[in-house]
Amino acid sequence: MSNWKKHMQISDEFASSIKTQAHKVYDINPYVLVFENEENSHIHHLYFDAHSKGAAVWMHLIEGKDRALLIDTGFGIGNLKGLVETLTDKPFDVVNTHFHGDHSAGNSQFERIFCHKYDVPYLQDTFKHADHRMLPPAEFFKPEDVVPIEPYEIVSIEDGHQFVLGENHAVEVIHMPGHAAGGCILLDHQSGMLFSGDAILSTPTLIIGRFPNPYYPECLTVTAFRDTLSTVMPRLQSVKKLYPSHSRLGLSPIYLQDMLDCCNAIISHPDEYEVYDYVPDPDQKQIKCIGNAMIVYSNSRI
Ligand SMILES: [Zn+2]
Repeated sequence: MSNWKKHMQISDEFASSIKTQAHKVYDINPYVLVFENEENSHIHHLYFDAHSKGAAVWMHLIEGKDRALLIDTGFGIGNLKGLVETLTDKPFDVVNTHFHGDHSAGNSQFERIFCHKYDVPYLQDTFKHADHRMLPPAEFFKPEDVVPIEPYEIVSIEDGHQFVLGENHAVEVIHMPGHAAGGCILLDHQSGMLFSGDAILSTPTLIIGRFPNPYYPECLTVTAFRDTLSTVMPRLQSVKKLYPSHSRLGLSPIYLQDMLDCCNAIISHPDEYEVYDYVPDPDQKQIKCIGNAMIVYSNSRI
């Protein structure tokens, strides 16, 4: 079996066994499984099970002594704000790892959202095209629980932005283009946890498709991803574990170097790939797998 198939099998097993791991479900939002971090009870991982291949998504809540930070807002189904207020009594900020609809569609429940400056125009576009939003299969949610996409205040941030959650406790924003132009990964300096969004995860990083009129197209390539990742590697030396937005959590920092190697392998030999048939999507056809890292890519995005 090819390596990517082995990795996907592990991630399928993870998805089918997740409910056997200790978690809580709160009446205020029955859609979300709440997991307390094994090493730090002030960090919660919020799992929305989209019941379809690869589409379940994580949101993460970090509570510091003074403030909390919610990373992503999921598909916008159910009362996420109420759930967060149940889990923490601290004032909190909300940040998006990127604008895609499985990470930002619940933004309207909050007054303001922090987002990398390159994803701000994409997020603003979602206000105009709310009827094209991404939703999981209809049988898994009640239509009345879908949060309407309505305008909210967007706070544009840049690489290096720090969310200060308490004394000596900052979460640093690191711009990570490739999957999305304004993609971000977030490093909690206190715990050494890296919240790696859809940029670095145990399932393939998707760098696919063509956009007719993208904003910041130079940031939508494997090359941009490689160049940025290699530049920021020294800032990631303290990372102990990765907490992505999909599939398995608590990944080894080995994934960072593997991902860099995977980008380099694509850039030097774009035509040497395996055929990816995990999902029936004509855009998701070419996969490169190096060590633990996998990228599904289109030639237009190298
Ligand atoms: Zn995603």
